[in-house]
Amino acid sequence: MARLPDFRLGSVLATSFTATLTERAGEPVERIPTPQRLADWFGVVGLTTGPCTDEDLSRAVELREAIHRAATAAADDEPVPQHAVRVINAHSARGRAAAALTPHRERRWRLSRETAVDDALGVIAQDAIAVLSGERAGRWALCASPTCRAAFFDTSRSRTRRWCEMNTCGNREKKARFTAAHGASAQQ
Ligand SMILES: [Zn+2]
Repeated sequence: MARLPDFRLGSVLATSFTATLTERAGEPVERIPTPQRLADWFGVVGLTTGPCTDEDLSRAVELREAIHRAATAAADDEPVPQHAVRVINAHSARGRAAAALTPHRERRWRLSRETAVDDALGVIAQDAIAVLSGERAGRWALCASPTCRAAFFDTSRSRTRRWCEMNTCGNREKKARFTAAHGASAQQ
């Protein structure tokens, strides 16, 4: 079986979710191409749903793209498009996950077996609402990589982060600059 693309996870659930499609402004890489990969992703972020269907996947992608549009609007300081607002709010209303506290003061999510995917998408939609509405301190920005342009939420102290992720977009950009300055032969 061909190796499937890895997940890109960050500290913000909503943008970890939008990062399941990367290189959006170049040659896009779909990181949840199958219902099984969606189920895997849910598991990795602590929203274990069990098996997902094709329909679950298309609803997940609908929510993901709505969050992406909303986050891009936030980075551009524009109002969120109506359609994106409707999709995010519908998913938020449908989910019935319960937050649960552990003795180590961690938050877990309890999903109901019958509606696990709705519940998981509801948690993500609510996270998007929290971050987009300014509940957490930070700044929305677009990744400086021309093939990425992902909207990300910058919580750095200086609020001057330029890339959605230092390990991927940031490093690639640095390498490109190095090559431009020193010539391709210096890359050996
Ligand atoms: Zn990026």
